Amino acid sequence: MLTEKLAKECGWKNYGEHYDLAVIGAGPAGLGAAIRAGRLGLKVILVESTGIPGGTGAHALVGNFFAGSPIKGIAEEMVRRLGKKNKAFEYYDGQALDYRPIGDQPLIKRTAMEVSAMKREYNTLLKEAGVDCLYYTKLVEAVRDENGNVKAAVISCVEGMYLLEADYFVDASGDAHLMASAGATMKKFALDRMMHTSLTTLIGGISVFHNDCAQQRYRELYDAKKFKGKVWNWFGYSWTMTPGEINTIYDFNAGDTVNSKELTRMGIELLDEIHENFEVLKEEMPAFENAYINRTADRVGIRSGWSFEGMATIDRDYINSGAVTDEPVALIRRSFGSHSSSAEKTFNAEWLTINSGYTSVPMKAMLSAEVPNVAVAGRCISSDGYTIDTFRMIEQCMSMGEAAAVMTLVAKRNNVPLNAVEYKQVREELDKLDLYIIPEQADKMLDDYLGPNRPR
Ligand SMILES: Cc1cc2nc3c(=O)[nH]c(=O)nc-3n(C[C@H](O)[C@H](O)[C@H](O)COP(=O)(O)OP(=O)(O)OC[C@H]3O[C@@H](n4cnc5c(N)ncnc54)[C@H](O)[C@@H]3O)c2cc1C
Repeated sequence: MLTEKLAKECGWKNYGEHYDLAVIGAGPAGLGAAIRAGRLGLKVILVESTGIPGGTGAHALVGNFFAGSPIKGIAEEMVRRLGKKNKAFEYYDGQALDYRPIGDQPLIKRTAMEVSAMKREYNTLLKEAGVDCLYYTKLVEAVRDENGNVKAAVISCVEGMYLLEADYFVDASGDAHLMASAGATMKKFALDRMMHTSLTTLIGGISVFHNDCAQQRYRELYDAKKFKGKVWNWFGYSWTMTPGEINTIYDFNAGDTVNSKELTRMGIELLDEIHENFEVLKEEMPAFENAYINRTADRVGIRSGWSFEGMATIDRDYINSGAVTDEPVALIRRSFGSHSSSAEKTFNAEWLTINSGYTSVPMKAMLSAEVPNVAVAGRCISSDGYTIDTFRMIEQCMSMGEAAAVMTLVAKRNNVPLNAVEYKQVREELDKLDLYIIPEQADKMLDDYLGPNRPR
């Protein structure tokens, strides 16, 4: 954290103009925030350390919207726009390339998207919304005034260091890097509360393939301890848009995901194990005789990192009670505990909890008492670590981003910090834009579509 005086002494120039809103991170949350804020008429800049929009999903080669909950807003728009271009399909029943067109049906099934088309569509949406995009640029530090507000972000562009000034900021970095550098109280979770990391791998050249058959054979190999390192006890994969290609994530690792050395270690171990285990698959799995590794992700896929101390926190009691906060901003699921780091060789935590239905993100879980003009959106909002699974999906992160944009509009209109916005006004705007799905509405939408005897 830097003071304004210190930042001036460093001699960094201002980057461009003064913005209403600077969004850090072009993952689903940052995209939701930047696109919606641009549409609402705010002057917005989006800063992203890599060269692409899409966040962990895109870096981890994930082209799935895991709906299963009704979606609205920019997430829905993305899927329908890509559907019209035949670049997104709804999974039918999990079998190879058993897709059906997006059409007009409610988007409650898993949606497969062509990753490159997805990135391009995000860029188009950003352009249409008038957002200034700054990729290849990393947030380094926050510059704070005496009241704790972030006055500027120190950013590292390819051409050097700059100060980026804005009235408001959205931290959508996935790991609350802006909040951390602004000096907010951070929560690092013990390993047994975190979800594990994976290095997604595209395997091509698969011939006729049946899920039940593959799962059974994989389980036999797993029980016979044929695989190296940590692998799930089931074969984690999804089909991609390329015939004969699957996206595997059955491997996993665990460690500190906000530590460069640890991420490096996990990446090296995972890459070794993936290649060694692939030889087992090729030799022993039906339909893998001619398989080859097409690509592994460029970075370790992080599911959970750390979070900041919010003015409200999503914890197990809140989720298990089924209650809905009196300041809801985004729909979330109520089941959690999958993909756990704690279980040595299985997929789920001992504390895996399956709850039916939905609840909502409390607005204050995105806000800090310590850093007034910053909102956090996405997988790093304030939680107890156990419950991250309830709100980490792409469409949920996007809704939180859109809520952050609406909060910024209300804050600017009233000339107040983000942590002082009046919920009533935020809700009025969310409803005007038809962005917030009430949990009972979500259940009804699923009942109408799948029938009341649907699995819960
Ligand atoms: C292997 C794997 C498989 C998954 N599968 C699915 C799935 O099928 N369906 C689904 O819905 N979800 C899936 N998820 C979860 C989902 O992808 C993430 O939870 C979601 O992307 C989180 O969104 P976010 O915007 O909060 O953060 P992120 O997606 O992590 O985005 C954060 C962005 O901020 C950038 N950033 C970070 N620090 C800085 C900085 N200092 N300066 C500038 N930029 C910065 C990052 O580069 C990144 O682009 C998966 C995750 C993983 C790891």
